[in-house]
Amino acid sequence: MLRSDMDVAVVGTGVIGLATAWEAARRGLRVRLIGPRSGEHRGQASRAAGAMLAPFSEVAASDSPERVALEVGERVAARELYDSWLPPLRQASGRPLTLTPGLWVVATTGGRGDATELSAIADAAVAHGHRAERHDPGDVPGLSPARSCTAHGALWLPGEATIDSGELMSALTEALLAHADVTWTESEATGLHPSAGDEVTITCADAPRISAPRVVLAVGVGLNDLLANSPDLELSLPPILAGKGVSAVVRHVPMSLPTAIRTPMRDFACGMHLVPRTDGMVYVGATNRLSPSGAVPYPLVMELNDLLRESGEELSTKLYEGELVGARVGYRPFTLDHLPLVGPTADPRVLIASGTYRNGMLLAPRLAGMIADHLTSDTVAEHPFDPTRTITPSALPETLERWLPELVDLFLPPQGTPTAMQGVLADLLHQSLRGLATDGGDPRGAAVRRTWQQAPVPEALWSLLVAYLK
Ligand SMILES: Cc1cc2nc3c(=O)[nH]c(=O)nc-3n(C[C@H](O)[C@H](O)[C@H](O)COP(=O)(O)OP(=O)(O)OC[C@H]3O[C@@H](n4cnc5c(N)ncnc54)[C@H](O)[C@@H]3O)c2cc1C
Repeated sequence: MLRSDMDVAVVGTGVIGLATAWEAARRGLRVRLIGPRSGEHRGQASRAAGAMLAPFSEVAASDSPERVALEVGERVAARELYDSWLPPLRQASGRPLTLTPGLWVVATTGGRGDATELSAIADAAVAHGHRAERHDPGDVPGLSPARSCTAHGALWLPGEATIDSGELMSALTEALLAHADVTWTESEATGLHPSAGDEVTITCADAPRISAPRVVLAVGVGLNDLLANSPDLELSLPPILAGKGVSAVVRHVPMSLPTAIRTPMRDFACGMHLVPRTDGMVYVGATNRLSPSGAVPYPLVMELNDLLRESGEELSTKLYEGELVGARVGYRPFTLDHLPLVGPTADPRVLIASGTYRNGMLLAPRLAGMIADHLTSDTVAEHPFDPTRTITPSALPETLERWLPELVDLFLPPQGTPTAMQGVLADLLHQSLRGLATDGGDPRGAAVRRTWQQAPVPEALWSLLVAYLK
């Protein structure tokens, strides 16, 4: 067994684990990092991400004002941190790491209420002292939707940005390998156990056991499995759900794309987006479906089809002329209240940094700073991501009330569908799902209720229908 020649072990090597390990090392702690370094990283969220650094364009018009204030405030703080985080990372890694400032959001007839969504995004930016400039869609470089889909509004957000997620992961890896106080164990952690001397022992799949006085869990959607194999530690953590996302990279697209273009939020996801990569390629994102963690490491053909067809239709059909270089699947870790978990668990030796859902690339430096504060100080500024907070699960009737239109959009595209038809389908889905969730008589209702108990979140509405049909 390795004795604790370190101050902290960070388990997990996605963007949150790497950023946390680097920040802890920069604050003078000796760090052991545990998790894969090489290989394809299939299922990892970080390498499948855009990565849009988007404090405002992730706002949805249906979000409550309190929620917008909380989330946008955290995301703005993270975006501001990026500007001071990148220069030392460039220096430590020797990589150029280009950040492309600005992002376009376009309103199209592919969304149900995009004009309202653009207003909500603009309001959020202005409320936080940032610019949001209205433009004619013709001003957006690279925007060239299909004839069947009209762009009717555009918003330029100079306070947002994009970065190449693969480049960022490589830079963090290089910076960590170059740091004298970081040791990297390339193995999967198989369990955590209390050990003598008040330390925590980590068993690994193909490396000796490791003991550490403090452990940070940054394993994304791997958390539930790791905790299931750690029965002797009482961490009292809420469950982590997985939002499966598919993205693609296309080259030789005959278009100029100086900055990213996106739609507002769509179908429980971050909308369609095209992000320029430093090597001239175009990143295309992204789908989002509640799924069992890491279940399928490859995209389904229908997911890839939806992704490429819809991005082409809404943003640029030039995409169809490019060459598909690759597609990735990533599982976004998220919680029942959709806020991250950051800080000490019920066992103060074990901390968690996870649940970043659609914003982990943006939030990484901020979360890393919070964890480093917890590791180095007894008095840490209050933040809304306390992992021991009470999380009240959503109730199905309220969830249906608010989110049913999104479910209807999955079946009937808003564009060209008579409102009356959408209304009929909404009523039908409402009545059947509500009935199944409450009626004890129908055996298929049991599957629906079980599914809802496991994941009482809006993203589960689709899974409820699937559970019913099975
Ligand atoms: C398609 C897609 C697009 C996205 N777009 C954006 C975007 O534009 N902007 C943005 O800010 N965010 C975006 N996100 C979200 C962001 O990628 C995630 O929030 C973030 O990457 C989560 O990071 P993580 O380190 O917690 O998890 P992950 O990146 O999934 O990393 C977890 C790591 O832990 C490792 N691990 C698991 N179990 C163990 C174990 N037992 N032992 C050791 N290691 C283990 C895994 O191998 C994995 O490498 C996107 C996500 C997806 C999927």
